Amino acid sequence: MLNAPAYALAAGRENRVIARPPQLARPEGHAPTLAQLRAEAASCTRCRLYERATQTVFGEGRGAAPLMLVGEQAGDREDRLGRPFVGPAGHLLQAALEEAGIDRSQVYLTNAVKHFKWRPDPRSRRRLHSRPSASEIDACRHWLGWEIRLLRPRTIVCLGAIAVRGVLGVTTPLRQLRGTVLELEGTRVLVSLHPAAVLRLPDEEARSIAFAELVEDLRLAAGTET
Ligand code: SF4
Repeated sequence: MLNAPAYALAAGRENRVIARPPQLARPEGHAPTLAQLRAEAASCTRCRLYERATQTVFGEGRGAAPLMLVGEQAGDREDRLGRPFVGPAGHLLQAALEEAGIDRSQVYLTNAVKHFKWRPDPRSRRRLHSRPSASEIDACRHWLGWEIRLLRPRTIVCLGAIAVRGVLGVTTPLRQLRGTVLELEGTRVLVSLHPAAVLRLPDEEARSIAFAELVEDLRLAAGTET
């Protein structure tokens, strides 16, 4: 018996292969407004992550933004403030946007998973980030799918593997997809590194290379590449 067919992606720089066709998140129910969606998400119990988080961290930014950036999940600071990309990774993203010539106020920012998943640090009172499971990411695709459908961005940038799962519904090593431009239902989708992954790199040179890659991807997404 043949294995399931590999799916070849039409890639911007070269052809890549992933296990199954990517598909933009498909939400259920009637089309709400963005304000209704935000209000509904505030009391979401689709998975158990709401139980230990402070609040839902919904997306924010320009309503009709041509560019949507999707991160992985709300972090500690985002959980406290209720806004996406306001922690250290958000500061690095801001620097990358500036370097790429993109005005943050013209972008819509959101996360694939809208509650902070954490575990206690046994040595301190810090809350340590935990990776959401595939089922938690998939549960949250409802909200992300509606954000995409309501905002209809020209381009979506998936920042990290969790964002890839949230936007495209596939689990694929990031390096296989980075730099690829997909056309799905009239929307361009690009994959890049999450700024937190850049920050976690052990040495300055590696961080500098990864930051340059992130900037390059953002330029490609915004059409400002030189
Ligand atoms: S993580 Fe997403 S799906 Fe899970 S409870 Fe929070 S908003 Fe709902």
